[in-house]
Formats: sequence, C-alpha cells, structure tokens
Amino acid sequence: MKKILQTIMIEINNSCNLSCIMCMIKNRPKPFMEFSLFKKILSDWQESGRCFDLFMPFFRGEPLLHPQFIEFLRLFFEKNKDYTLAKSIAFDTNANLLDKDLSDIILTSRQFSTITFSIDAIKENTYENIRKGGNLNKVIKNIKDFIQLRKEYGFSFPKIRLQFIVMPENINEAKEFLNFWKSYFKEINIILDIIFEYDTSENSNDCIFFRPCMSYDKEKQSNDKRLYEQLYLDIKGNRPLFKDLPDICSGPFSHIVITSDGLVLPCCVDNQDRLTIGDVKEQKLVKIMNGSSLKKLLRLHLSMNKSKIDVCRDCPGQFFPVIDESILKELIDKYEN
Ligand code: SF4
Repeated sequence: MKKILQTIMIEINNSCNLSCIMCMIKNRPKPFMEFSLFKKILSDWQESGRCFDLFMPFFRGEPLLHPQFIEFLRLFFEKNKDYTLAKSIAFDTNANLLDKDLSDIILTSRQFSTITFSIDAIKENTYENIRKGGNLNKVIKNIKDFIQLRKEYGFSFPKIRLQFIVMPENINEAKEFLNFWKSYFKEINIILDIIFEYDTSENSNDCIFFRPCMSYDKEKQSNDKRLYEQLYLDIKGNRPLFKDLPDICSGPFSHIVITSDGLVLPCCVDNQDRLTIGDVKEQKLVKIMNGSSLKKLLRLHLSMNKSKIDVCRDCPGQFFPVIDESILKELIDKYEN
C-alpha cells in the first residue's frame, strides 16, 4: 500500500500584508504561531519517526510576515539535516517581503523543492486592484533577484511556480503575463513550463501555473470555471479534463494541516477550522493522525459520501486531484474489500 498524507502544512502565520479580492479566508484566529508550539510539534514529529515528502510552513496568510520566520526555518533545518522529517520544503508567498538575505538562506539550505509566487497580473493597475496593498514592480524585482541568485549558485532548486489565478479581473492579460515571463526565462536561458495542474514530480521545471479561482458562490464559481476552461483551450488547444472522482476528494488523503494555534485539520480548503480532528497542544501528532476522527472522514470519502459532510458538500475545491489517482483507487479497493 502506498503512503497517504505525504504533505504536512504548518501555519506559521495566518495574517496577511495584502487584502486580495479573491481571498476566502474569513477566520484569522491567532496570527503568529509561537516558537514554543513549533518546537513541540517538531519534537512530536521526530518522535513519531514519520518522514513526509513535503513540509510547507504555510496555510492561511503570508508566511514571510512572521517576525521569526527565519528562526523557524533554522530550527527546522537543524532537525531535518538528515532529511528524516521531510524530503523537502515548499511554500507560497506574494513575494512582497522577499529579500536577498532570506533568498540566500532558502537557497543555501538546499532543502526547498518549490516556491510558489502568487502574482495574478502583469499590469500595475490590475495587480493593485486584485492584490490590494502590494507592489507589482517590487514583486517582479524580488522574483528576478531570487532567480538570479539561484543561477549564481548554480542551483536548479527550488523550482519557481509563477501563479496566476484566473478570474474576470485579469483574464485579458493572461497571455501578456505568459509572454512576459516566457521572454524573461528565454533571456536567462532557463526552461519554463506552462501548467494548469499541480506538478509534484521531482523532475519538474520552473513553471507558470494557471489555476482556477475558488469561491463559495456557485454562480461565480461556474463563471470562473468557464473562463479557466477557455484559457486552457486557447493555450493548450484542447479542453481540460477534471479527473476528480464524483463524491470523493483527494485533499484529506494527501495532506494534514496544523493551524497557528495548534488545531489539526485534514484539509487546506477548510479555512474556518470546521473539520478539526485534534489539537497538538493537548495531543501527540501521531495519535491525531491515527485517530478515529480522521479515519471516519476518510471512510466517508472512500465510500463516495463526501456530500454527507457539511463542509465538503459546499466546498468549492479541489478542482484537480492533489494525490495520484492510482493511490485513491488502491484505497477504494482496500476499503471495499
Ligand atoms: S471536499 Fe473540500 S473541505 Fe472536503 S476535504 Fe475536500 S477540499 Fe477539503
């Protein structure tokens, strides 16, 4: 049986320096995770002997905003020097706060596999309208500086994901965004892919990632999906295949989330902590991961009954499977027998 729960996300910070128009986060209970809690989680994690494929110091919010972000990273590097906790690290950022020192720490740690830069625009006024409070020129400069530094070190990792969430406010400049970054990568002689689904393979290249916008508003959701499918058709020449099974979601099989206050969630779309399955302040992480709450949720999904779970029934994502389809099939077979 292949391993499930390959990714662990720890919400270092859930506040943000921007106010983006598509942000679905309603609940920001406690902005910064305390260092002592992070230490406790790492010690539980070490004790469990569990090695995840991926550690993400990220959930709701902008991770770079935590005043101790570098200390968190340094502690993790120290505990993970033999890659016993996680094979690699990845996170998402709006890149407004990325600077040379942090870029240097990330690159020289040699522990990061991917960084996703959330950009969504190529024209300043569009960016300012979508990512309120951010500065596009600064973002582009910070990203280019990061890539340049990676080049100077002669590294090919971490891979860069330039993310563009497709919505009515930016659809008209999707191709301009693509051409801008394509010509920059050509200039610096680095391969750049264009993807519409998460690519988690180890040999992936830097990429532009067009992703659908998520919303709880059904009408908006279907309009945005139409735009996304049209863009996919324009760029790829064929229609997208959304492969997710009808009443099962791959999310809770692929990852586990710990909030800044220590709550454990089975899914990163549950941004209001409604599916909480435990609390690492009170319990050992391994007990929560093997506990009955998670098993019950997974069983409901495996029996194609996700609509019996309130949060899942109304959920706008996942649009694409974040776990290999073969693993889900294997799990369904095991459950059914
Ligand atoms: S259906 Fe939505 S809320 Fe439920 S597990 Fe999947 S992504 Fe999370």
